[in-house]
Amino acid sequence: MARPLLILGTHNRKKGIELVDLLAPVGLELRTLADLPDAIEVVEDGDTFQANARKKAIEQAIHLKKWVLGEDSGLAVDALGGLPGVYSARYSGAGATDDSNNQKLLLELAEAPPSKRAAHYVCHAVIASPVGEIMAEAVGYCHGVMLATPAGAGGFGYDPLFEIREYHRTFGELGSTAKACLSHRARAIGQLIPRLRQLVAAGEWT
Ligand code: IMP
Repeated sequence: MARPLLILGTHNRKKGIELVDLLAPVGLELRTLADLPDAIEVVEDGDTFQANARKKAIEQAIHLKKWVLGEDSGLAVDALGGLPGVYSARYSGAGATDDSNNQKLLLELAEAPPSKRAAHYVCHAVIASPVGEIMAEAVGYCHGVMLATPAGAGGFGYDPLFEIREYHRTFGELGSTAKACLSHRARAIGQLIPRLRQLVAAGEWT
């Protein structure tokens, strides 16, 4: 029998790899937007992670007529009043890359003392049914501190600058196994998993 199909509504390849890893225990067939040439580009114009995650899930689900996970995530730095926030992917402007975003962040934080460098990642995750109804929703956080120099090459985005206090290591240094336990994404997906199992068991997944 074919496994229930869930589309991961992201174009970010490294984020997609983390999501596949985190959702593996549910036993769904998982595909990313890279596997779907007819997927649409959802405009992320919401003011909050929740609004963008909902939009990515609902608009893509209605278009593809499939179950879709919408995920919006980013970094909030205390000294910057919560920036880059929902602008995390495009913090350094048009054509932003992880490197250019990290450079801008280092510049903005150049004068910030260690006591002001607290930050947290946020991940908002939403499951939409093929008619665009929200069937599950969760948010996860991960707290840390922004370093003044990058360390480690693992993860993606701001990971080489984001240190987990308890480990005195960045996500860039800790690697994928630790990140899959501690991250904002792991915490959000961990809350969704029982609900996904329930939906499949109840025969809702058509
Ligand atoms: P989104 O794809 O619009 O949700 O943007 C996510 C952006 O937030 C990424 O491009 C990164 O800049 C940042 N981000 C989100 N999650 C992570 C993470 O786990 N590590 C590092 N950066 C992240």
